[in-house]
Parts: sequence; structure tokens; C-alpha cells
Amino acid sequence: MPAKPPPAALRLDIDGEALAGNWRALAGLSGKAATGAAVKADGYGVGARRAVSVLADAGCRDFFIAHWREFADLEGLVAPGTVSVLHGPLTPEDAAYGKAIGLKPVINTLRQAQLWLEAGGGPCDLMVDTAMNRLGLPMAEIGDEAVKRLEIDVLMSHLASAEEDVPLNERQRQKWEEAKAALSFRRSSLANSAGILLGSAYHGELTRPGLSLYGGIQRRELETHIRQVVRPMAAILQVREIEAGESVGYNATFVAAQRMRVGTIALGYADGYLRCWSGKGVMLSQGRRLPVIGRVSMDLTGVDLTGAPDLGEGDWLEAEYSLPQAATVSRLSQYELLTLLGRRFSR
Ligand SMILES: *Cc1c(COP(=O)(O)O)cnc(C)c1O
Repeated sequence: MPAKPPPAALRLDIDGEALAGNWRALAGLSGKAATGAAVKADGYGVGARRAVSVLADAGCRDFFIAHWREFADLEGLVAPGTVSVLHGPLTPEDAAYGKAIGLKPVINTLRQAQLWLEAGGGPCDLMVDTAMNRLGLPMAEIGDEAVKRLEIDVLMSHLASAEEDVPLNERQRQKWEEAKAALSFRRSSLANSAGILLGSAYHGELTRPGLSLYGGIQRRELETHIRQVVRPMAAILQVREIEAGESVGYNATFVAAQRMRVGTIALGYADGYLRCWSGKGVMLSQGRRLPVIGRVSMDLTGVDLTGAPDLGEGDWLEAEYSLPQAATVSRLSQYELLTLLGRRFSR
């Protein structure tokens, strides 16, 4: 029998209870509107299959992926008709695949509308652009014949600045209302995680949180509702004592001021623990905060273990990764912090 590879020395602890709890909290804040879930980019790095199975158990019935291929992770888990593909069909093959499986494309352009109709049509979503100028049908084109022929389930738009209180939110909402008045559809949707907090006028019949499901907090009001979901864990590979004046890591950016105990953990920038954490990150163990020292390397990071004499080779540390704080320290966005987490983590 072939030997199974041993478990990795780094893993993501995913708190399924917190994930389900965050969805329920956002569903509560969404009032009468149903609450979906953005699970694109491998469920924001959490693992799409795991995330969708937890969210479906919690009661979620609308899932959003970006690429057609991302459905491969969800096969057998949820009915294809509950999954929307945000990028829409780029090729006739995309449209034919969507039609064959029963996935809903999100139609973003007139060409996409044509592709979908030529593939046989059926339920789809429509994204109208109300300010982002990114992906979505321009308002000037919503009266087109091809659009009228679509069988629109969710008529949606996407907010550019939902985490800020700026006039653009209301301007986008009004354009979305205009689109609603001009088209027939089953449900309307505007709010991402932060947009839910803008109030029921922004909800329509469906909200589409992503980030906050996974512990992201982009508006103060969410602080009391959202719990941390993702905890990066790495094992200590080696421990040594160094003398004052000795350095740690590439380019000797850290120099010991006194004798100290240094651990090397199996986590590096190739895992998404980027060099911005050099000299700034903190590892946690039983309530103790152990500073990252020196430069983060590709596969390894140095940690000051002076305050944790009991820890040695094979013990595990948790990277401090509460998203709002981690974003402030690292200067990465909460979205980047999640989606960076690499393939070497066991999830
Ligand atoms: C990613 C995405 C969402 C989720 O946004 P969050 O800010 O992560 O809550 C909602 N709608 C669309 C169209 C998206 O692309």
C-alpha cells in the first residue's frame, strides 16, 4: 500500500460555528431579505466546499462564485440552480456548460445576454452597473431587446463604497431602483456585507455578504455581530538560543539585544504570510503573544520564544489574524488577508 503523505506542518483552523453564526447574524441584519453568500476565490480562502456545506446547513440558498470552474468544488453539495456565476459567459462553451448543469450566469453585457439566449436561455441573474464601471450592463442598455428576453431571477448591482457613508451609495441605490422599474425579475439585490448595514432600502429581496461571513469587519456596527473564523496555525520546526549581537533571518534585519530563545515556524510568504509581517506579526500560544522577528522567508518565519520556555519542536503556534486588526498592522486589506492564504495549509 502506498504511504499516505503525513499532515502538513501548517493548517488553517476554520471555526464552522463562527461561520454559521456570522451568516445568521447577517441574515438577522438583512431583515425580510434572504441572505446569500459569496463563496468565490475558494470561499475567500477558507475552502469553498467546507464553507458552502456549513452555510447550506445554516440555511443559505444563494451562492455566488466568480468563475465557472469554481463550481467543481461545490458539485454534489448544492443544487446548481442555487449557484450564480458572477463573471457570466465569455464563450459559447461557458453558456452551454451553464445550461447543461443548470447554473445561473450573471449577465453583464449584451454579448453575454446573446450567448445565454443562443445556448437556450433559462433562469439567469443580471448585473447592472450603477457606478463602478467594472463589470455589469450599462444603464443605457437595459432597454435592449436581448435583455427583455432574459428570464431574470436576481436583478443586482454592486456598491462601490458600502463601508463608507458617502453620497455615492444613495446615487447607486437610485439607479438600481430605476433598473428595477424598467425590467421584470424575480428578486432584487444590492448589498454586500457592509451594504447590509445601510438599511432595508438597500436590501431588495436578497443580500450578498462575503467578507463578513469569514470574519471581516468593514463597518463599526458589525463589530458586535461578527466573529473570527480563520486561524492560521504553524508548527515550530527548530528552536535555538542566541547571544546578544546575533541576527535572525535574511539580511540580518533583527539583531538580539540580549540572550534569547528563537523558534522557526513552518510558515512563510509562499503561504500568504507576506513580508509585511516581518518584525510586526505576533504568534499566539496559551494567551501569550510571541513577536515575529526578522524577515519572513518563503517557507519559514522566526519567532521570539523567550517568553515561552515550555515550547519546542513540534509545538503549534497561532498567527494573530483577527482581520480588522491584522489589516491595520499589515496594511493589507481584509480581503487580501483571507484570499492570500496558500495551498500548503491543510484546511
Ligand atoms: C464579492 C462580491 C460580493 C461580496 O462582497 P463582500 O464585500 O465580500 O461582502 C457581493 N456581490 C458581488 C457582485 C461580489 O463580486
